[in-house]
Amino acid sequence: MTLSTPFTRFQKTLGTVVQQLKLSKAEMKMLQEPQHIHRSNISIKNDHGKKVTFPAFRVQFNNARGPYKGGIRFHPAADEEEVKALAALMAIKTAVVDIPFGGSKGGIQCDPKKFSRRELQEVSRAYARTFKEHLGADLDCPAPDVNTTPDIMAWMRDEYEKQTHTYAPAMITGKPLAYGGMLGRDLATARGGFFVLEEMILRDALDPKELRVAIQGFGNAGANMALFLHRAGYMVVAVSDSQGGIYSAEGIDPFRIQKYKQRTGSVIGEYCKGSVCDIKKMKLDHVRRVTNQELLELPCDILIPAALDNAITGKNASNVQAKYVLELANGPVSPEADKIFAKRGIQVIPDVLANAGGVVVSYFEWSQGRSGRLWTLDQSKADLKRIMLEAFTEVRREARRTNATYREAAFAVGIKRIVEAMKVRGWV
Ligand code: GLU
Repeated sequence: MTLSTPFTRFQKTLGTVVQQLKLSKAEMKMLQEPQHIHRSNISIKNDHGKKVTFPAFRVQFNNARGPYKGGIRFHPAADEEEVKALAALMAIKTAVVDIPFGGSKGGIQCDPKKFSRRELQEVSRAYARTFKEHLGADLDCPAPDVNTTPDIMAWMRDEYEKQTHTYAPAMITGKPLAYGGMLGRDLATARGGFFVLEEMILRDALDPKELRVAIQGFGNAGANMALFLHRAGYMVVAVSDSQGGIYSAEGIDPFRIQKYKQRTGSVIGEYCKGSVCDIKKMKLDHVRRVTNQELLELPCDILIPAALDNAITGKNASNVQAKYVLELANGPVSPEADKIFAKRGIQVIPDVLANAGGVVVSYFEWSQGRSGRLWTLDQSKADLKRIMLEAFTEVRREARRTNATYREAAFAVGIKRIVEAMKVRGWV
C-alpha cells in the first residue's frame, strides 16, 4: 500500500475525474505534477540571539490561465507534499470560479504560535526575500492561509518592494486596509461558503431554521462562518479550535464564543483550564466539552470542517451524522471518506468551490492594486456573490449531467478550463 499524503490524495481524486474526461497523455502529465517547486531554508535570529532555521516552500502548480495564485501557511505540517497538494487545489479552484489565475501555494514548516511578534516579522520578511524572484503581480501572487495574517502580508509586500525597488501593491493579497487591502477580504472565505450553502439549501427546499450546524475550526473561516449562519437563523450546535470544542443541542451563540476566545485564547477557555472544567457553568449554559474528533460525529445536519486537511477519513466517515459537508478547509475529506459519503447520500460541497471566496476577493484586491482604482465593500460583496453562484450553478449542472459527486463535477469543470487554456496556448 502506498503511503497516503495530501498529494497522493489529490492525485487519487484527479484520477477518478480524468478517466471520464478522456485527456491526452500530455494533458494528464501537466495536471499531475507542479511546474516548479522552489525550496529553501529560512534562518532568523530568535529573541535569545540564537540562529533558527525552517524549511520553506513555494510550489507553482500551473499557470495556463494566468499568474500563479495561492496562500502561504505557517504550520509544523507544511512540508513539500502538503504544499504541493494545496498548490494543485488552487489551480483547480481558480478555474472553478473562473478567475484569471493559475495555482500555487507556499509554506514555512514552523510553529508560529511559539514566535514573538518580532520573530514572526523576521520569518515573514525572510520568506519574501528568499522567493522574491519567483513572486510578483504578473508571476505569482501569495495571500494568507493557515496562521498567516494581513500583518504578515504587509511585511512581505514591504520587504519585496525594498528588495526589488518597486511599488508592488498587487504582488500579494490579503493585506491590511491601510496598505492596499481590499474591503471584504477578511470575511471573504466565510461569506463565499455561506453564499454557496444558502443556494444549496434553497434549491433543496430546506428551511435554515430547522438546520443544525457543527463547525470544526474557529479561525478566520470557521468563526466568521459561524457568525453568518447564526445571523441567518441556522442553529450552530458545536464549534471547536485546536484546544477542543463545545456542543449544545440547544444551540450556541458564536458571538459569545468569539468573545470568550478573544479573552481566553480558545473556544473552551471560558469553561476549562487544561483538563479542569467548571461543570456548574457548563451546565448553566447547557454546553458540554467535545474533542475535535467527537465534533465530527455529533448529531447535526450540516458539518463544516474548517480546520486542517484529512479530518474525515475512511475511519470516521461512517460515523458522520450530517447530510451536508461543506469544506471550508482545504482537503478535509479524504478520497475514502468521499466514497463512503457518496454511498450514504451525504453531499460534500468541495473545498475548490466552498472556500473559493477568499481567492475571489483576492482577485479583486489584485485588480485594485494593478489599476489603482479603489473598490467599495458593496461592489466586492456583490461581485463575490455573482461569481460564487455562477460557479455553484455550473458545478451542480455538471454533477447532474454526469451523475457525479460535487467534487468530481467541480474538478471536471476546473480541469476542462485549464486544459482549454493549455490548448489555446499551444502547450498540449
Ligand atoms: N489561502 C486561501 C485559499 O486556500 C486564499 C488564497 C488566495 O487568496 O490567493 O484559497
